[in-house]
Amino acid sequence: MNNEDIVSFIRTQFNEPENFIPLHAPVFGGNEKAYVLDTIESTFVSSVGKYVTRFEEMMQDITGAKYAVATVNGTTALHLALVVAGVKGGDEVITQPFTFVATANAISHAGAFPVFVDIDRTTMGLSHEALSIFLDDFAEVKGDCCFNKKTGRRIAACIPMHTFGFPARISEIAVLCEKWKIALIEDAAESIGSYVGNKHTGTFGLAGTFSFNGNKTITSGGGGAIVTDNDNYAKIAKHISTTAKQPHAWEFVHDMVAYNYRMPNLNAALACAQLEQLPAFLESKRVLSRVYSSFFKGSEIGFITEREGTTANYWLNSIVFPDRSARDSFLECSNRQKVMSRPAWQLMNRLPMYRNCLSGELSNAVWLEDRLVNIPSSVRLSHEN
Ligand SMILES: *Cc1c(COP(=O)(O)O)cnc(C)c1O
Repeated sequence: MNNEDIVSFIRTQFNEPENFIPLHAPVFGGNEKAYVLDTIESTFVSSVGKYVTRFEEMMQDITGAKYAVATVNGTTALHLALVVAGVKGGDEVITQPFTFVATANAISHAGAFPVFVDIDRTTMGLSHEALSIFLDDFAEVKGDCCFNKKTGRRIAACIPMHTFGFPARISEIAVLCEKWKIALIEDAAESIGSYVGNKHTGTFGLAGTFSFNGNKTITSGGGGAIVTDNDNYAKIAKHISTTAKQPHAWEFVHDMVAYNYRMPNLNAALACAQLEQLPAFLESKRVLSRVYSSFFKGSEIGFITEREGTTANYWLNSIVFPDRSARDSFLECSNRQKVMSRPAWQLMNRLPMYRNCLSGELSNAVWLEDRLVNIPSSVRLSHEN
């Protein structure tokens, strides 16, 4: 199988003989226009309105979490989740180097230092084995908190990420966080519709966060959400996402320093219409992943599939080349022919602002960074298969 074969196979799947094929384009096939128009006609386009509440209820239903709090994007959802978890300036937060930059940025926004621990090659998420080794080497529990023995800083939280919609080994990670008294916050930005057993990603720790950016499985233009089962946590998250304003008919009374992070009704209208189609979107993505999987079977190119006992949403289909030069020649070939493909992110610990952060041994992250490519994965609504 050569690069040209792969590119023409992708073109066939999208029924698109010559035009540009993006990695992930949104599909608006339901009530999007009607709901957005409704917000305009009602004049409630900002962060008060029925769609924001409806969106939060839909997220509770989908994830099974007791509470959902809507935010303006996934980055602010992560920042807010850390602040409400009590992460303070000078703390450390463990995450994976193989993630979108927003995960590390949100840790910085909270004034904390990211610490990078390796991933699994199979799940592409934080490795519970690497986490366990890191904590045995560096951590000690004093009272109710975990401290880094070598830096003296508190290890306040851990943020695993469910990469490209494939669930990380989150149950094992949750056990470690519990043992070491570290708050677990899942970056589920990419994993709406992904489960471990029957439990939705984002619901294994204190809180989970989602993104509804234009390239995600479900989009609200821009948007995010925090989910949690903790009553007090949900109350504070909502309060400080809306400038900590005390309810009052006309007075402006604010009781703490807070944020303007709440999702506008206009965006929530789009999100509600999109969430109504989630089962159909997931089914379409699953069909495409099966087609890709059988295409790559038996070739030297690996195709990442969901681990047994989990359900992936197949947000971005991921293939693994034998080495970096094979990866690069495919990237060159497919993008030249307007079939978009993309390597994994540069590891966070290589970026100038995170170069000096503490890291564990990162060999799996480096291995995948050299080999992984995402290929077009959009929902195909009219596709018959
Ligand atoms: C998309 C994404 C986010 C949040 O992105 P926003 O653009 O702020 O909504 C966070 N983490 C990961 C891993 C993501 O892919």
